[in-house]
Amino acid sequence: MRSTGLRLSIGDDCALLQVKPGEEIAVTTDLSIAGRHFRLDWHPPEAVGHRTLARGLSDLAAMGAHPVAAFLSLGLPRELTKQRGRRLSWIDRFFEGFLALAERHKTPLAGGDLAESPVAVADILLVGAVPRGKALLRSGAQEGDLLYVTGALGGSAAGLDCLRKVSARNSKHVDRRSTNDEDPLTPHLWPEPRIQQGLWLQRRGRATAAIDLSDGLSTDLGHICMESGVGAEIDEASLPVFGNASRKQALHGGEDYELLFAARPVTRIPKRIDGISVTQIGRVIKARSGQARVVLLTKAGPQPLSRGGWEHFA
Ligand SMILES: [Mg+2]
Repeated sequence: MRSTGLRLSIGDDCALLQVKPGEEIAVTTDLSIAGRHFRLDWHPPEAVGHRTLARGLSDLAAMGAHPVAAFLSLGLPRELTKQRGRRLSWIDRFFEGFLALAERHKTPLAGGDLAESPVAVADILLVGAVPRGKALLRSGAQEGDLLYVTGALGGSAAGLDCLRKVSARNSKHVDRRSTNDEDPLTPHLWPEPRIQQGLWLQRRGRATAAIDLSDGLSTDLGHICMESGVGAEIDEASLPVFGNASRKQALHGGEDYELLFAARPVTRIPKRIDGISVTQIGRVIKARSGQARVVLLTKAGPQPLSRGGWEHFA
C-alpha cells in the first residue's frame, strides 16, 4: 500500500516521509496496555488491532489531517505470538483487524518493532499531513459558536458494560467479528475514526475548534473550553445517545471517537457529513470566573457538568 507521503517503507533503517509543499506534519502517539485499555479475555484480537489504530487515526481526524503512515511497536507475551494447531495466533488476528482499518483509510504501516514482554502492549504512532495553518485546533472556539458532534454518543461505554456482563455470565469470547451497526458491541469493538468528517471541516474551514471524543464529552469539551478560554452549555435533550446507552454514558463514557467541534453561528453545517449524522448539542459561552466551564441544561434547570471521563478498567 502506498500513500502519497510515504517514499520509503519497511526494508531500510528508516521510513522516508514526504509532504506536499505547503503542508505541515501532524504526529500523535497512543499506548494501549492489556488490563488497562483492553482485556485479553474480553476483546477479540482483531478488535484490539482495530482499536489501537483507531485511537491514532481519530487524533488525526480531530486535526483535519489526512493519514500518511502508521508505526506500531508491540510488546507481547510469547504465547500470543505462537500459532496453536491450525488456529491463527493472537498477533496474526491482531494484524487482521489493524490492517483492515489501515486499508480503509489508506494508511500504510511503515515501521515498528516487536519484543517479548510480560504484559501485552501496543504503541501506535500516526503521521498525518494538513495544509499549513489549516489544522483544526482545540483553541479556536469563540463565544457564540455552536457546538456539534458527529454520530452517536455513549455506545462504547454501553458496549463495554455488555462485555462485562457477558464475561460475568460465561467466559466465552465474544464473536470475533460482528460488525453490523445494530450490534450493541460495535461502537466499542469497532469504532470508526471520523477522518472524512475532519477533512471535510478542515478543507471548507467550517470549524473554529475541534477535538475527538476519546475521554468522554464532559472531559473533552472541558479541553476545548480550557484551550479556547471559554465556557459551554450543552442541551441535554439534544444529545444523540446511542441505542442502548444511558445519558450518563453519552456524557461521560469515553472511546466513542466521534468529533466534537465548534462553528460560528452563521456557518452552515449539514445534517450529515459523508454519511455520518451531525447534531448541534449546545453553544459556546463566556467563561465566568468561579463558575463551572461546562453547564448542562436539563429540564430541572442548569447543572454544572464536571469531568467524569474514562477510567478504563481502573
Ligand atoms: Mg485526541
